[in-house]
Amino acid sequence: MASRACDGCDTSVSIAGGIANIWSQESRPTEGIVLELGDDTEHFLCYDCIDQLPDDREVTAADVAAL
Ligand SMILES: [Zn+2]
Repeated sequence: MASRACDGCDTSVSIAGGIANIWSQESRPTEGIVLELGDDTEHFLCYDCIDQLPDDREVTAADVAAL
């Protein structure tokens, strides 16, 4: 288990590693995941931040920056 700073809130969270897809992931084994956004960028986010992202459209880097 490693830890990494969330790109949204800078909180250090535990991760198991690897890239997951929040929209197909049923369980939450770690406290944050790397999201591949609609604009082809990748951001590591904790679930608190993920919960604040819009779920009715593709998330972009601008959404992450606005967290
Ligand atoms: Zn966060």
